[in-house]
Amino acid sequence: MVELCLSKQLKIIAELPTKESIIKLLSAIPDPEIPVINIFELGVLRNVELINGTCIVTITPTYSGCPAMKLIENQISAALKAEGINEVQIKMVYSPPWTTDWISDEAKEKLRQYGIAPPEKSTMDKGILLGKNKQPACPQCSSINTSMISQFGSTACKALYRCNNCKEPFDYFKCI
Ligand SMILES: [Zn+2]
Repeated sequence: MVELCLSKQLKIIAELPTKESIIKLLSAIPDPEIPVINIFELGVLRNVELINGTCIVTITPTYSGCPAMKLIENQISAALKAEGINEVQIKMVYSPPWTTDWISDEAKEKLRQYGIAPPEKSTMDKGILLGKNKQPACPQCSSINTSMISQFGSTACKALYRCNNCKEPFDYFKCI
C-alpha cells in the first residue's frame, strides 16, 4: 500500500516537477544527526528554483563545520536524481546566517519528545552571555533545575546537561 502511494507520487513529480513538489520531496530528508526532524523544518533547506531545466537548491549550513552538511548535500542530489532530475546545483548561502530561531516550533516540539531540549530563542541565549542564568528545561520532566555537564554532547551541535530533578542526562541543542 505504501509502495503504491509512493510510486504514484513519484510519477506525478517526474511528470511535472514544480518548486512545491521538489520542496515536498526534499522535506523527506531527515537531519542526519536528529532523524526526527527534516532539513526543511530545521531551516537548512531555504529555496528551490527551476531555471532552464536545472534545479537549484539553496541551503544554509547550520553550525559551521557540521559534518552533516556534506551528507545533506549528497542526499539532496540523490533524491533529485531518483526523480530523474539530473541537472542539480546546490547553492550554499551563508547570509543571512542560520540561527536556531529558524527551527520551526513544530520541530522544536519533536526535539523535546525525542529527548533533546530544544534551543531557546537566541535572544534568551544572549542573556546567558550577559550573566543571566537561563537554563534549558529538562525534556523529561520540564524542570529548569538543570546543570551543564559538558559543552559538547553527542555531537558538537549539542551540549550535555543533567536534570537535577529527575537525574536524567539530556542533550541540549545549542543556540547560535
Ligand atoms: Zn528532569
